[in-house]
Amino acid sequence: LNEAIHDVVLGHAGNYGDTPALIDGVTGTTLTYAQLDTGHRRIAAALAEAGLRKGDVLALHSPNTIVFPAVFYAATRAGAAVTTVHPLATPEELAKQLRDSGASWIVTVSPLLDTARQAAELVGGIREIFVCDQAEGHRSVLDLTTSTAPEPQIAIDPGEDLAALPYSSGTTGIPKGVMLTHRSIATNLAQLHPVMPLGPGERVLAVLPFFHIYGLTALVNAPLRNGATVVVLPRFELDTFLGAIEKHRITGLYVAPPIVLALAKHPAVDGYDLSSVRFVLSAAAPLDADLADACARRLGLPAVIQGYGMTELSPCTHLVPLDVDNPPPGTVGKLIPGTEMRLVSLDDPAKDAGPGERGEIAIRGPQVMKGYLGLPEATADMIDTDGWLYTGDIGQVDDEGWLFVVDRVKELIKYKGFQVAPAELEALLLTHEGIADAAVIGVYDEDGTEVPKAYVVAQPGAGLTGDEVMAYVAERVAPYKKVRRVEFTDAVPRALSGKILRRELRDREGKHV
Ligand code: ATP
Ligand code: MG
Repeated sequence: LNEAIHDVVLGHAGNYGDTPALIDGVTGTTLTYAQLDTGHRRIAAALAEAGLRKGDVLALHSPNTIVFPAVFYAATRAGAAVTTVHPLATPEELAKQLRDSGASWIVTVSPLLDTARQAAELVGGIREIFVCDQAEGHRSVLDLTTSTAPEPQIAIDPGEDLAALPYSSGTTGIPKGVMLTHRSIATNLAQLHPVMPLGPGERVLAVLPFFHIYGLTALVNAPLRNGATVVVLPRFELDTFLGAIEKHRITGLYVAPPIVLALAKHPAVDGYDLSSVRFVLSAAAPLDADLADACARRLGLPAVIQGYGMTELSPCTHLVPLDVDNPPPGTVGKLIPGTEMRLVSLDDPAKDAGPGERGEIAIRGPQVMKGYLGLPEATADMIDTDGWLYTGDIGQVDDEGWLFVVDRVKELIKYKGFQVAPAELEALLLTHEGIADAAVIGVYDEDGTEVPKAYVVAQPGAGLTGDEVMAYVAERVAPYKKVRRVEFTDAVPRALSGKILRRELRDREGKHV
């Protein structure tokens, strides 16, 4: 693969001319493939004319809009790397990412302009702030599409030059800048295509954020590379989401577990015709197998399928192929083509786990990141000299090659030399009728032994006691896995993706003593 990402994705745009590439799910405004192709070239020209040079970093600070992809490809065509920013970032958070990534250009939307201005002031060195809509005193990306400047002819080295600089989600620590080259992103698209072919006629609903690599790949790069249509929503709001599925006859949904939960349980779902949907794919966080099943049955699908990946892997390594009707419950999929996996022994990192045993998932392949920006030590900790990236996730593979993700290595609780996976206890707790939500972390008792502690959100009126919770678990697991402390709480801290923020519980724990 020797092309830049904008050429890989939009090189075929000519074949799809008047086909809608992107439709605004709220206003109905449409961008055809021809408009996206010409539009992004003109924006690239205008950015180059404004002084953007190869190697610059452009911060794209925006919720999902139909203009977002055009800005992304324009920036890469002009030679920039795009650092995508959470639209809810505070001025301080944005400033941090601008500084860390070395960004000198910002593209935002008018409602976020104050944040962008304040952040720019905090860091200095920002050349210009553009908006995707209209705002006084700022050039609009929409005006740039009328630029008559010559299109920049930038030589891109796909294996070396960065296309994107997303930040990891910060579930376990401070988010890190992940250096993804044109080739690592483009190769991942080529690897995904045979197992998840999306062509013209396919309509996907973009509710996951584009700024995250999952959204950027599944909802921008992959569908646009293949002539599909992307219906764009700025945020998740159940009725709008369901209405858009019905109205646009959506065929494919890429979601995270909280949306699977809503689709499985919310009464509003019955009020819409969702019969056009032929697949639902969940990724980013553990998905309960029963919940997945309930959602599938409600939508009349054989299964809700999963994928597995991480920002550092551009992002995907495993997927349930679209043509498999009955994957084993709970699997995150099979290895995609051109990728190698090993499971490393949890007891002895010099060895691989035995057949059927759990181990740390290590990955080698063209989708492995170039490294963490400015963090050579953290990079070396994660990628060894043979090119294996250690994911920090624990997996298990069955004899047909289906991968199951158990938990993160760092979250394992070491009870008297035994390893306990909090995710396993959480899944069990959720099977209790009186429990609405639960999270488990390791805490230290008086003699320094690490023991599992459950934070439990009780169903209203359940009248549940801590002893009952402990007894429920004790009846169902090996003795070393017993929950030994219980605290009732109003809510489990979670990211929007559904990831449990166990570090917040640990902080709370620290404040107790
Ligand atoms: P940080 O690395 O900054 O702490 P993060 O790891 O949450 O944050 P991401 O790159 O967004 O940042 O998430 C990747 C992680 O998401 C994986 O390492 C894995 O733990 C989890 N994950 C992804 N897909 C799945 C899945 N299908 N099932 C369970 N977990 C998943
Ligand atoms: Mg991570």
